Amino acid sequence: MERRVVVKKYGGTSVGSIERIEAVAERLFNDCKAGQIPIVVVSAMSGETNRLIALAQQVDPLYRGPAYDLLIASGEQVSVGLVSMALEKRGIKTQPLLAFQLGIETDSVYSKARIKNIRTKELQRLIDQGIVPIVAGFQGVDEFSNVTTLGRGGSDTTALALAAAIHASECEIYTDVPAVFSADPRLVPKAREIQKLSFDEMMEMASLGSKVLHIRSVEMGAKYNVRIHLRSTFEIREGTWIIPEGEIMEQAVVSSVTHDPVTYVFKLFPIPPETSFLSRLFTQLADKGVVVDIITQSQSEAGQRLAFSVTQEDYPLAESVLQALLPKDKLTKEVMSKVSKISVVGVGMRNHPGVAARFFSVLAENNIQVHLVTTSEIKISAVIDEANLTIAAQALHQAFDLDRN
Ligand code: ADP
Ligand code: ASP
Ligand code: MG
Repeated sequence: MERRVVVKKYGGTSVGSIERIEAVAERLFNDCKAGQIPIVVVSAMSGETNRLIALAQQVDPLYRGPAYDLLIASGEQVSVGLVSMALEKRGIKTQPLLAFQLGIETDSVYSKARIKNIRTKELQRLIDQGIVPIVAGFQGVDEFSNVTTLGRGGSDTTALALAAAIHASECEIYTDVPAVFSADPRLVPKAREIQKLSFDEMMEMASLGSKVLHIRSVEMGAKYNVRIHLRSTFEIREGTWIIPEGEIMEQAVVSSVTHDPVTYVFKLFPIPPETSFLSRLFTQLADKGVVVDIITQSQSEAGQRLAFSVTQEDYPLAESVLQALLPKDKLTKEVMSKVSKISVVGVGMRNHPGVAARFFSVLAENNIQVHLVTTSEIKISAVIDEANLTIAAQALHQAFDLDRN
């Protein structure tokens, strides 16, 4: 029997209680019996990372640094211990591992660190000895031996990085939905399961707010040619394969409607006319680790307007940069907080005109005001009022023929 090494990542809901951890251990036990050698990556139990972040915010909402990462990475340690014990109870030899023990080396951009290198020697030794590694997702270690974290949802990236490091051709991501759907099934009940999706589409979906996969995990899959199999923790069946575009025969014009429920828009007016102001503003935001999403600028007789959006996570940092930088009294700053981003994504858009026309017609028919817009070759996004999100998502899903029959 061929012994196949497979990286398997279990997310927060999948390990959210002792019963679920026992079920995961049972499934892993069966995988071992069937001849596989799993490398297991686990997330913190559901809700735990949010709880830790809320604690940090009570102490200092603006702090980012090693102490923050060390704190919010701790949920994964608990899951590693419990999953490891549940497997040992079933007679499987395991090695529980935090990222620093395994050597998942990252840069020092705390709370959004990038993996630079993984030492595979230890992993290989364990595999050779038939010991199942149980690895903490989401965390890394930097050159100063500080604990780092990879950004929310980052356990997916740990899994893909391990799969790439051992030259695996696929990686399994087990989660609380059976597949990637044509929209978040919590928002659009008529969403359909997608069997195959290209890396590019999944990357757009992830960057536009669909948290089903962490964007860097998809980038890594594409870069190192590791196919991602996203599947259910609770059912034994195939889910969605994320694979190179060339392997997908039929390409939908629009394959999904994706949303980010909470985004923040800053509107500044009038901004100083010199480009150096923009350069200073966005450099300082970047230095603080704020990811700026959509940027628009418009000119009127009265001066220049600037609007840009940031994620909920980065909002307090962005606010502190603006307070320090903006010329007092001369400029008005408005913050739109009850807004969401809605997008349609599909590689087929490249050769199909009219997608934008349909997108805006649907929003217009439903009297939905658009605050900001951005497009790429394979997506159109709009920032709209939070109150209109559900209706917009469901109407777009239907208009682009994605509704389940
Ligand atoms: P895990 O804890 O396993 O990493 P996440 O909560 O990070 O799970 O991601 C799974 C969730 O992603 C689902 O429960 C679902 O609500 C959400 N989601 C958003 N968009 C989609 C989509 N297009 N298809 C499937 N799930 C989606
Ligand atoms: N526990 C981390 C988070 O909630 C990482 C993950 O779940 O992938 O963001
Ligand atoms: Mg996740």
